[in-house]
Amino acid sequence: MRRKIVAGNWKMNKTVSEGLSLIEAIKANVAKVQGAGVDVIVSPPYVMLSEAAKALQGSSVKLSAQNCHQEESGAYTGEISATMIKAIGAEYIIIGHSERRQYFNETSASIAKKVSVVLSKGLTPIYCNGEVKEEREAGKHFEVVQRQMEQELFHLSAEEVKKVVIAYEPVWAIGTGLTASPDQAQEIHAFIRKQLSNKYGADVAESISILYGGSCKPDNAKEIFSKKDVDGGLIGGAALKAEDFLAIVNGFN
Ligand code: PEP
Repeated sequence: MRRKIVAGNWKMNKTVSEGLSLIEAIKANVAKVQGAGVDVIVSPPYVMLSEAAKALQGSSVKLSAQNCHQEESGAYTGEISATMIKAIGAEYIIIGHSERRQYFNETSASIAKKVSVVLSKGLTPIYCNGEVKEEREAGKHFEVVQRQMEQELFHLSAEEVKKVVIAYEPVWAIGTGLTASPDQAQEIHAFIRKQLSNKYGADVAESISILYGGSCKPDNAKEIFSKKDVDGGLIGGAALKAEDFLAIVNGFN
């Protein structure tokens, strides 16, 4: 059975004390909206991961980092390894977010390595893919996502890929207020699952959670999450307010 997941990506927002207040507000009310088995994840900036892990002890809310380096350790000034993130107690790492691809020159080769290193540490990659506006307008979104998966994910074994969470995030919908319609989301999620099935078999494809990301809000989450191949959301802006984030989690109820 694949998991239902709502993950908040805080990006470069919140000081440590602001982040801890947000965590407290989420913790205080998460049980009311979590229903039957939604995994709720927060992904604060690196500098507060350690404090966040302590604040989340004994809570059902899980912790993610937003990125890691592809090497295990070494002379990479300013970088953070999956090993360090694991030692803090985080369970997930977002890999291949479109902002990292766009502003930090992440390539398919580095993303593929990052996915592998995260898995090798026993952590779960939340692997992001998705097309930019011009690609969507040219009707190329299927081929873009297929190519991304071939180059960034399909080096994994079936046992490994089963442990990955995929977040389909159309870049034109991230932080823009534009959202893929529930039918557009379903269409491409079904396509992603079909690619997984072609490569790894139907059982593996059925076991992988595929999240939607891109201006997901309290007023559109329920309809998007109701789609057969949408297993939850990766939430940016709306994850910065506990009330909105929890309302999105409530979209499963
Ligand atoms: C994201 O950055 O992963 C995201 C989905 O952002 P937003 O919800 O703000 O569009």
